[in-house]
Amino acid sequence: MLIPVDQTAGCGSAESSEGIRSVSQARQDILAAIRPVTATEKLALRAALDRVLAEAITSPVDVPGHTNSAMDGYAVASSQLAADGTTTLSVIGTAYAGRPLATQPGAGECIRIMTGAPMPPGTDTVIMQEQVTLLDEQRITIGTGHCPGQNVRQAGEDIPRGSQVLASGHTLRAADLGLLASLGIAEINVRRRPRVAFFSTGDELRSIGETLGEGDIYDSNRYSLYGMLRRLNMDIIDMGVVRDDPVALREAFRDATRQADVVVTSGGVSVGEADYIKPVLDEIGEINFWKIAMKPGRPLTFGNLGDTLFFGLPGNPVAVMVSFYQFVQPALQYLASGRQDPPLCFNARCTEPLRKRPGRTEYLRGILEPDQAGDWQVRIAGRQGSGILSSMSRANCFIVLAEDDGDVHPGDPVRVQPFAGLI
Ligand code: AMP
Ligand code: MG
Repeated sequence: MLIPVDQTAGCGSAESSEGIRSVSQARQDILAAIRPVTATEKLALRAALDRVLAEAITSPVDVPGHTNSAMDGYAVASSQLAADGTTTLSVIGTAYAGRPLATQPGAGECIRIMTGAPMPPGTDTVIMQEQVTLLDEQRITIGTGHCPGQNVRQAGEDIPRGSQVLASGHTLRAADLGLLASLGIAEINVRRRPRVAFFSTGDELRSIGETLGEGDIYDSNRYSLYGMLRRLNMDIIDMGVVRDDPVALREAFRDATRQADVVVTSGGVSVGEADYIKPVLDEIGEINFWKIAMKPGRPLTFGNLGDTLFFGLPGNPVAVMVSFYQFVQPALQYLASGRQDPPLCFNARCTEPLRKRPGRTEYLRGILEPDQAGDWQVRIAGRQGSGILSSMSRANCFIVLAEDDGDVHPGDPVRVQPFAGLI
């Protein structure tokens, strides 16, 4: 499924003279190394929520299936309506949704009709009940100003039979399940979900429930990774914590690559530690150790271990999430669907001054909220150290300051990237 990483990618060809790679360059190189999943499976409609369509869906029927009334009122033949002055008609029956009336009204006649009822033969127009005068039980009077065809939904006006309703590669949302149900489709072919194995590396890491020794910390990255991978609806394999030990690491990587399409690890790739993990990775794959012109998340390890794609994310809890959002998320989306949708980004007014060093992309944790006029404004969610997860938890967006950007002054527009369901 995966093709080998372009070997030129890690050799300086696309890097600046300092060996630093931009976020967009790294993202492009990653996407270029991925071949989307092609295997499919057939699922019942409900089970296909959040799954990727493996085929285009064309409608086997017209929607609506029959021409019907959009209002409660009276079905008439428009030829019966006087061009000027009023028209008086006799009501000869009632058509209900689910109980059509096959009677064709003659001259001077009409049919009482309810919303959703098929139009009786010979009728083409519905007069809303609020717009008629009841003369007695059987007769109504209609004024002027009505248009032929009004208040009628034509068969196939939403979806004509044979037309494409959803493209292959589309991720099914709630409206799509409803749409497919409206076509009477019970089962659909979807792509297999990518299988993603992940583990944390570090001798200081303990799992929840274990006793913390001197200098130990709880492993939090595996939980944020779990959350983000679940949100992407990946098939996940949690491999726990692996110690900073070449034998244990080698065994973990071999185990992960046997089972998964993608392996994501955190920790062990920052300066100094990379020396440690590098020999293990070089033995089993082709791996690039990149420095990305970004903050947080400067070190990023990416490549392939045989047929398995590998992301080595930094260890700091916020850096791991920022790197995931900027690199792993688009990669997994492409792997799962073959699509490269741009992230949701827009401008908001920044209410605070921000210091920004040109030459790198900075991702600040922000709180996006409407101002009094209902326009979006953004402020900082708290301290921005790459280990400070509490401000990440408070934030609902990244403030993205581009490589060339300098300091931001209060009132300036800034680019924001809402977490949009992922975090
Ligand atoms: P490293 O990239 O392994 O040098 O880790 C950088 C920092 O992140 C260190 O302070 C680590 O203790 C911390 N860290 C690494 N992995 C985790 C993890 N899974 N959970 C919480 N903190 C971590
Ligand atoms: Mg470490």
